[in-house]
Amino acid sequence: MRLSHYFLPILKENPREAEIVSHRLMLRAGMIRQQAAGSFSWLPLGKRVLDNVVQIIREEQNRAGALEIIMPTIQSADLWRESGRYDDYGKEMLRIKDRHERDMLYGPTNEEMVTEIFRAYVRSYKDLPLNLYHIQWKFRDEVRPRFGVMRSREFLMKDAYSFDLDYESARAAYNRMFVSYLRTFTRMGLQAIPMRADTGPIGGDLSHEFIILADTGESAVFCDREFLALPVPGADTNFSDDAEIAGIVEEWTRPYAATDDMHEEAAWAKVPEPERLSARGIEVGHIFHFGEKYSKPMGASVTGPDGKEHFVSGGSYGIGPSRLVAAIIEASHDENGIIWPEAVAPFHVMLINMKPGDSACDALCEKLQAAYEKAGREVLYDDTDQRAGAKFATADLIGIPWQVIVGPRGAAEGTVEVKKRATGERDVKKVDELLAMLEKGA
Ligand code: ATP
Ligand code: MG
Repeated sequence: MRLSHYFLPILKENPREAEIVSHRLMLRAGMIRQQAAGSFSWLPLGKRVLDNVVQIIREEQNRAGALEIIMPTIQSADLWRESGRYDDYGKEMLRIKDRHERDMLYGPTNEEMVTEIFRAYVRSYKDLPLNLYHIQWKFRDEVRPRFGVMRSREFLMKDAYSFDLDYESARAAYNRMFVSYLRTFTRMGLQAIPMRADTGPIGGDLSHEFIILADTGESAVFCDREFLALPVPGADTNFSDDAEIAGIVEEWTRPYAATDDMHEEAAWAKVPEPERLSARGIEVGHIFHFGEKYSKPMGASVTGPDGKEHFVSGGSYGIGPSRLVAAIIEASHDENGIIWPEAVAPFHVMLINMKPGDSACDALCEKLQAAYEKAGREVLYDDTDQRAGAKFATADLIGIPWQVIVGPRGAAEGTVEVKKRATGERDVKKVDELLAMLEKGA
């Protein structure tokens, strides 16, 4: 992609409305545009990162056995009257009437709708376990939308819903999502800590929040430093082995970790003083087991092996991809801008032409761009006639992991400069060696 053909509305000034670094950098890097309170458009650079985050979530949901669907954003109030939540949900729910004066709502979550799908089709325990998820926009009329996409009113959510015959198997489904979450956040370059949590308006008796430690986090959190060294399950984790999965959950729930609403001073006091980590955190995921809370009032049951009808035991599992993009920036930036972890970076390399119009520079840039793209690495090619300083500032601000700098002297000698954004290290590389490396797929 040539920068001269791209849409990257960089802001030079710090936007005054942005209170935290991720919001400031997302606006400055031209990733998002605010449309109303808590509502944002995603511009090309932002959309690429959001898509990468979504793709990691999708791969890990699929690996854990969940099946992707997509449900509407607008829901019928009648469904929510069945569960009793239409009146309970309060002002966070955006209520709408259609032209026939029917009560509708913009979905803040989808337990009711997915339960309706389940009860329409599933009759027997033999069709279980079942876990359906979607990645869809939600609306919650938050009292205080703030911090950009971190707490917005319209936001993207991955929400999965599990259905099982009994508590035992529902617990196994919960564990699979728990382990899938550990892998998901690690792949994005984040360290997320599962903490016992309150169940709130979703209801239920077992719940964990996945928290990223960051000074700008909205929750006060308390945890054992042991978490920082726990091994994250690998890609070879066997999600059909309930005992293996339960073992991983056991290991990741043994050390103390709680958000302030679940914090227990007595248990905290037992953590050795030097191991106590009391910090701020960002909630990026939240999982719940709620049993029959929706299946019973909505009549979602299956015939069990005993020939009797059983209300299914359910759970729901949320991740906020749009919030995650901001959380990743909170965890990975410096005074010059964003530092994208490779797995979510909008492009792999930023190719900087120091003298566009110079035939040697242009030819070398085009050759390098083609070689990178052939090797499957996406390139943003700065072919603009901005000053050198402005080019470097833009490259650092938007945080692409590698910068390849092509100038007239290097082009004559057959060398380029390669800069690693994360460390600032610069290396002069022979073009031939770089091309050979790409050829080999390194
Ligand atoms: P919070 O306590 O932050 O309001 P929640 O407990 O209401 O979150 P859930 O209902 O569990 O959130 O939603 C699942 C996930 O959706 C959250 O873990 C978070 O990543 C994301 N999320 C929730 N509310 C918002 C929001 N207003 N803006 C962006 N993402 C959100
Ligand atoms: Mg909330």
